[in-house]
Amino acid sequence: MASTGLRGPFPLTRDGVDAAVTFAMPGTYALGHINQHDQFVVEYAGRADDDVNARLKDHVPEPYQKFKFEYYASAKEAYFKECRIYHDFRPRDNKIHPAAPKGSYLSCPVCGQ
Ligand SMILES: [Zn+2]
Repeated sequence: MASTGLRGPFPLTRDGVDAAVTFAMPGTYALGHINQHDQFVVEYAGRADDDVNARLKDHVPEPYQKFKFEYYASAKEAYFKECRIYHDFRPRDNKIHPAAPKGSYLSCPVCGQ
């Protein structure tokens, strides 16, 4: 099974987010659950262009048990990571391809979209 390369999993609660995500920085995250084989199952992938802590809290409460995340130095890096997770895992709740950061002309590093 492919690895997301993200930190976690952590509980998707306001306290869980604050305990794990201590910097207001760009970031990429995956939401999901732990299956019976103790593996994290990605159900949704997303990113924040400036504050991954705040963006994760937008998802509380939602019917995901856990999240994983990583900080990135720029919205561009966070977007590229989001694209890789989208293509590697095809999360069931991502209905459309990730959108590039506002005002950028970046293309997906995997499919070029
Ligand atoms: Zn793509």
